Amino acid sequence: MALKADNLKQTLESLKKTDLYRTRRTVESIEGNYVQVDGRQVLNFCSNDYLGLARHEDVIKRFKLAADEYGVGSGSAHLVCGHSAEHHALEEELAEFTGRERALLFSTGYMANLGVIAGLMSKGDVIYQDKLNHASLLDAGLLSGAVFSRYLHNDLENLSIKMEKYPSKQSMIVTDGVFSMDGDQAKVTELAEVAKQKSATLMVDDAHGFGVLGESGAGIVEQMQLNQQQVPLLVGTFGKAFGTSGAFVAGSEEIIETLIQKSRTYIYTTALPPAIAAATRCSLSLIQKESWRREQLNHLIKYFKEGARQLALPLMSSETAIQPMLVGGSAEALAASEFLFQQGFWVSAIRPPTVPKGSARLRVTLSVDHSTLQIDQLLAALKKVTL
Ligand SMILES: *Cc1c(COP(=O)(O)O)cnc(C)c1O
Repeated sequence: MALKADNLKQTLESLKKTDLYRTRRTVESIEGNYVQVDGRQVLNFCSNDYLGLARHEDVIKRFKLAADEYGVGSGSAHLVCGHSAEHHALEEELAEFTGRERALLFSTGYMANLGVIAGLMSKGDVIYQDKLNHASLLDAGLLSGAVFSRYLHNDLENLSIKMEKYPSKQSMIVTDGVFSMDGDQAKVTELAEVAKQKSATLMVDDAHGFGVLGESGAGIVEQMQLNQQQVPLLVGTFGKAFGTSGAFVAGSEEIIETLIQKSRTYIYTTALPPAIAAATRCSLSLIQKESWRREQLNHLIKYFKEGARQLALPLMSSETAIQPMLVGGSAEALAASEFLFQQGFWVSAIRPPTVPKGSARLRVTLSVDHSTLQIDQLLAALKKVTL
């Protein structure tokens, strides 16, 4: 039986009726942190480019130079002829940066998570996931065929109880480092302790921690000083603070070699453009060298939180650049986002199924490129929204 247009229409209608319909706005041009969107100039408060590296002069220059040298596309998968010297050097630099034996590039974070989890786990194994983990981690668990067990958000006691059910299975505990829609951090030290006690393997997806947490920007494992033994599987992405695109996993020699042999989202896909790898190497060096970017971002986070507190805005408990405000209903979150847009601020409304039902929110993200004046302006507009 073929797809029925009527059924699709019905599904679309019901999404509209429940305020869960998703639409895209078109970015026409970018100038600093102002973007021209759908014919309107707005201040961007929803980008994950926390350190302002996506438009950094040096990063762009390296990207162009490498495109001149290697062309635009990589031409094939890594295992065929797509693995360039730029890819290789980036992997070595990431291993050093994270203090792991090796690192392996993937084309996106989504694919890294699918490839790592489904490449290492299978039927007969068990995977424990935080309820608020990123969709790609949850999908990866399902794809692997392993038993899928979700524990309450950041609740170690609940995790321990769940783990009693399958004491002898090969098991993995999987968590976001910084939770992408909440902005709070995983209790990674405690998770590493539980993993050790119960001999499970801990995987941390630190997409939002890399670049912004830790002394040199090496993320939550640097901040909490957790080594390769404690966190054997560490994923990072380049689409956020690195300001480029792609992802990596860092870990032991055996794990990386196994992934090269077994990970289907590594093997059966075109390698990232070499120019993206080159630009990412430049971002990495800026991340390590320019710690003022992290300091300034932290200053802005504090500034925003203090302003929001004075206005009694419904901030969630986050110390990171992700600062969500709980709204509740999807219609209300959409209306608030639209109101802000009309006032000249781009703040996205996050709705189910990205977040649990009844917890729709506005998700403000801060960047080092914002000024305190711009934050004041945003706060003034947020004050006018009835949340
Ligand atoms: C963004 C994100 C991903 C996906 O990374 P992409 O490179 O955008 O595919 C994975 N995990 C987390 C926690 C993320 O925030």
